[in-house]
Amino acid sequence: MKQLLKKYFGYDDFRPGQKKLIDSIMAGRDVLGIMPTGAGKSICYQIPALAMDGTAIVVSPLISLMKDQVTALNQAGIHAAYINSSLTENQISLAFANARQGRYKIIYIAPERLDTPQFYEYSEMADIALVAVDEAHCVSQWGQDFRPGYLNVAAFVARLDEKGRRPVLCAFTATATKEVKDDMVCMLGLKDPNVLVTGFDRENLYFAVQRPKDKMKAALGYVMSHAGESGIVYCNTRAGVEEVCDMLVEHGIPAARYHAGMSNEERMENQDDFIFDRKPVIVATNAFGMGIDKSNVRYVLHFNMPQSMENYYQEAGRAGRDGGAAQCLLLYAPKDPATNRFLLENKESKKEMTEDERKEILERDLQRLKVMTFYSTTKECLRKYILNYFGETTHMDCHNCGNCDADFEKHDVTELGRQVVNCVYEMRQRFGINIIVGVLRGSKNAKIVRYGFESLKTYGKLADYAESTLRQVIDALLQEDMLIQTADRYPVLCLGKSYEKLKDEQFQLTIKTEVRKSAESGETAGNGERAGAKGKIKGALGKGALDDAGFALFEKLRQKRLALAKEERVPPYIVFSDKTLVDMCLKRPQTKEEMLEVSGVGASKLEKYGEAFLQVIKGA
Ligand code: ADP
Repeated sequence: MKQLLKKYFGYDDFRPGQKKLIDSIMAGRDVLGIMPTGAGKSICYQIPALAMDGTAIVVSPLISLMKDQVTALNQAGIHAAYINSSLTENQISLAFANARQGRYKIIYIAPERLDTPQFYEYSEMADIALVAVDEAHCVSQWGQDFRPGYLNVAAFVARLDEKGRRPVLCAFTATATKEVKDDMVCMLGLKDPNVLVTGFDRENLYFAVQRPKDKMKAALGYVMSHAGESGIVYCNTRAGVEEVCDMLVEHGIPAARYHAGMSNEERMENQDDFIFDRKPVIVATNAFGMGIDKSNVRYVLHFNMPQSMENYYQEAGRAGRDGGAAQCLLLYAPKDPATNRFLLENKESKKEMTEDERKEILERDLQRLKVMTFYSTTKECLRKYILNYFGETTHMDCHNCGNCDADFEKHDVTELGRQVVNCVYEMRQRFGINIIVGVLRGSKNAKIVRYGFESLKTYGKLADYAESTLRQVIDALLQEDMLIQTADRYPVLCLGKSYEKLKDEQFQLTIKTEVRKSAESGETAGNGERAGAKGKIKGALGKGALDDAGFALFEKLRQKRLALAKEERVPPYIVFSDKTLVDMCLKRPQTKEEMLEVSGVGASKLEKYGEAFLQVIKGA
């Protein structure tokens, strides 16, 4: 298996989980692999497909994904094809004719096609050794992505089983709650599957949250400091996409845009500009990304806070799929939760539902939004927060995220917390954060005067503290469940179930503030403002390891890659990934044998591109 991995994909070792899944498949046992995006699920069925006699059928939901995978496989010297609605009837007939002759090792197919006469006829006589189901959660009606076509899988496998030719069935997904997991096993007809859940951690991703005063400026600064690198900038709305993209383009950054308000044609063109590295940056709504397999995305910048941790991790996870260092930066503003709330309340898809259903779904959405808001405001290790949320309990700080790297000072704010809770109580749990903070700081705000709040006991009690500090204390109280924020349109603060803990002498409520940096570093801190993305976010792997000469070579290799990709009309990352180029810069191979030592260079690619890249390295 390892030899196949080296020969076709140029990698030396399997990643955690891959080996176990492959061994199981080879032993003839069904598997269910739950692995995060970018963990390397495809290899888990592609290697067995190569090792087994016969053909592997891969059920995949997305046309773009199939196309990308098939291009990559053919590049690696593996005969593969896809059959979906992007082909003409003639092309489909031709593909089936080739398939009947056993020309393909791997065939990607849309789930709906399993139920067509042509496929039926083919599968009656074909030697199908393996059926792999990608994005297997689509079979579950619990999830958001239910796709009825996936129900065809079980019937198809059962049909072969009746004839005594049951192939090994394997299913893969990145998302799985308990319900979805059970559904996958049952609805796909997995037989006593070996279920493997690999860690959700993506070690090469660096997470950071900033709270800039001016998001436009922060985004521009960040993108500029990553000039030439491929990145995705996500915005919550179409208008946001337009605005941010215009701003970047005005400053000379080649950026493409993508949202559902554009014509199909324009969207495809812009997507291709990005995928083919003609434009390094794409500014997009969350409509962009499903099925995008671009491996050299070096950063994902969220201009707004997303609506859930699930969304965030999936979008951010599109960075660094090649395993090289990549960054995931979220720009947070205190008004983000309210904007998201508005978007959730007005979701198109809800129009068809009953009042009760709508209420139930909104409640669930708001719960997810809360989790996301906590992520955006926590001063704890961000990775720990993510992993704990996804059910991987860890107590260790990662020392590789914005919060671990920041210089924080801990402050005991128990007394402040008590005053806040007193104030909420005194105001009968009927007002929102702004008014509470105003009262505590002794504000003369018209509403406060009108309601006569100046006579409250807590009025002006915390007048010496900055507004941002009080907001942080409230964040901490919310996280501790000492306060809760109602889910109304104008959310109010109420006492939470554990507020009594504040009476406990032993209990300490703490917040962290960033230690002010020296003036010359130009970074402001201590007021919740986090700046200087570049300095703070460091690359642990990848290009961070290159010196100036190495970097110069990297640029030359990149040019070569672009030229070759253009000739062959494939995306550059299909030729070689960024990580492979970096490895070339580090190892500087001089011969073909040495070239084979580079991670990501297999026999087929050596044959095709080895010489061209050796020339560049020798000339450097
Ligand atoms: P997923 O489907 O889980 O999101 P992919 O199968 O697309 O992930 O793999 C992500 C990237 O990791 C690809 O560029 C792939 O070539 C690479 N990869 C997979 N397995 C290995 C490995 N064992 N060593 C190095 N790179 C790998």
